[in-house]
Amino acid sequence: MEKILELKNLQVSFETFGGEVQAVRGVDLTLHKGETLAIVGESGSGKSVTSKAIMGLIESPPGRIKNGEILFEGNNLLKYSKHQIQKVRGKDISMIFQDPMTALNPTMKIGSQIMEGLIKHQEISKHDARKRAIELLALVGIPNPDKRVDEFPHQFSGGMRQRVVIAIALACNPKILIADEPTTALDVTIQAQILDLMRDIQEKMGTSIILITHDLGVVANLAQRVAVMYGGKIIETGTLDEIFYKPKHPYTWGLLSSMPKLHAKTDKLLAIPGTPPDLRKPPKGCPFAPRCPYAMDVCIDHMPQYTASSGSQKTACWLLDERAPKVDPPSTIGVGGEA
Ligand code: SF4
Repeated sequence: MEKILELKNLQVSFETFGGEVQAVRGVDLTLHKGETLAIVGESGSGKSVTSKAIMGLIESPPGRIKNGEILFEGNNLLKYSKHQIQKVRGKDISMIFQDPMTALNPTMKIGSQIMEGLIKHQEISKHDARKRAIELLALVGIPNPDKRVDEFPHQFSGGMRQRVVIAIALACNPKILIADEPTTALDVTIQAQILDLMRDIQEKMGTSIILITHDLGVVANLAQRVAVMYGGKIIETGTLDEIFYKPKHPYTWGLLSSMPKLHAKTDKLLAIPGTPPDLRKPPKGCPFAPRCPYAMDVCIDHMPQYTASSGSQKTACWLLDERAPKVDPPSTIGVGGEA
């Protein structure tokens, strides 16, 4: 599969009163054409900062990209001027945010909000932009699009507003769509409809999607590949099946154990005990060590290298070292299995 985006050793920090927060600590990732890659992890894992870095939305100060490369179709976006990155943003790479209400301008008709990007990036006439805005509203499933194009955001339900946000993001046929928790603010039925819509759009338009989420249910619905982030690092990556059915990292085991199961005899969720590391003082060794029931002495002082398993799976855990004791995954993991 052809690569469309590649992150190489991406490092992002923020200056705070309490010191430098090393939010992203050397991330390597690849997105292929037409695929959906999910980046999962708890809040503070670095997943949203990674997506903002791709969009050129890290404000400096306090933020700073300390190192690395973001290669879009082979060109390093970190070398682009502000003007060049603005051209890429919205046209080639666009983003859907979590809360549709804050993503929309309440004082502007939704048609005008869709047309804005079209006129800016595609230099088409107002008449053609309006026609395209109506087509886009129809594409994302808004009924009576020729009438609703002249309405304001408050006249739409939460789910419909998120469809409008998706229409805005798709206006210029972006090659990459970054969806940051796209369904978190919506109720479960609407969530399912928005996920169906995104899958549909990907099939029709061939857009590559980066899905940022803490919700493994959303991942199971949409992604082909998964990268699990913890403490500013990717700790495990692989195909959807590899991560869901053959996870090898204890943090991934914890995430899967905390996921509601369809046929579970109990509705009790298993939370991962403890808290994520303080990234003002990032640990020398494995960032999950203080919460890991299998931690060994080596884990405290030395960050494990990636070990490749069969297929495309890679895991950063000392348990995969040949000298480590054999540990089986807990019985509480698995999609749709019994807890
Ligand atoms: Fe646990 Fe050690 Fe593996 Fe980290 S490297 S997840 S502490 S076993």
